[in-house]
Amino acid sequence: MNADLHCHSTVSDGQLAPAEVARRAHAGGVTLWALTDHDQLGGQREAREAAEGLGMQYLSGVEISVTWAGRTVHIVGLNVDPENQALLDGLAATRNGRAARGEAIGEALASIGIANAYEGALRYVNDPNMISRTHFARYLVDAGHAQNTSDVFARFLCEGKPGYVGHRWAKLADAVSWIRAAGGEPVIAHPGRYDYTPVEFSAFFDEFIQLGGSAIEVVTGSHTPDQYREYAEVARRYGFYASRGSDFHGAGEGRIDLGQLPPLPADLKPVWERWL
Ligand code: AMP
Ligand code: MN
Ligand code: MN
Ligand code: MN
Repeated sequence: MNADLHCHSTVSDGQLAPAEVARRAHAGGVTLWALTDHDQLGGQREAREAAEGLGMQYLSGVEISVTWAGRTVHIVGLNVDPENQALLDGLAATRNGRAARGEAIGEALASIGIANAYEGALRYVNDPNMISRTHFARYLVDAGHAQNTSDVFARFLCEGKPGYVGHRWAKLADAVSWIRAAGGEPVIAHPGRYDYTPVEFSAFFDEFIQLGGSAIEVVTGSHTPDQYREYAEVARRYGFYASRGSDFHGAGEGRIDLGQLPPLPADLKPVWERWL
């Protein structure tokens, strides 16, 4: 089983259309796939049809932006019903505000001498309500302000940098309950990316469990190999199911392509087993 349960299409901040991501996943050897666009289910029908046409098994997915203890975390929902109204309404409320935040990022960048970045970034996105920092990063690279998108994040868009604009996303309890209402499984995405203290991490995991959560990404394109080991240990300690996903956004962006991650450590419980 080659499961890749985290990636993005042009519906959010990926570079390929859902059917193109499906073809790339299949070419990469993926046999169980989920497209997990940020705060949007608009690509699910195309993704499922393409996946099934190629002979891959498919799980509907989404990645919800959440604010917990003043910082952004992401919760992936797997095997959700993409027609569920509670989930659709929650995602719409979460997206709402991206356009205004985008304008504020544009103003913040203008104040350090980079004019019209919002207008520039809008050319990289299909729907203004889906504008993300990734679209700004691509525009700033193409406009010659940085070498690559990681460089843009490090210099301009990460917390503490001049183009960073704080935003209040969904509450953890709401994201978990929308995913559950839609029949899905909430999964803590790329925990290694969060800048929490050990005390905050244990409070976060405890709260997630209290809310009914029981799964975590261990092997992800957003983790280093050391972090695979670190979060495998967390999965054992808390009894979490484990997930695996590249977090692919586009060719030449990110560390790893679809289907190319190492397998989960053999003793962990794969989150997908119950659905096969
Ligand atoms: P947003 O939801 O608008 O805050 O944008 C978050 C997106 O930016 C993530 O989903 C990633 O695709 C991308 N991202 C965040 N941090 C980095 C980074 N350090 N380097 C490259 N991309 C990043
Ligand atoms: Mn992204
Ligand atoms: Mn994420
Ligand atoms: Mn992602």
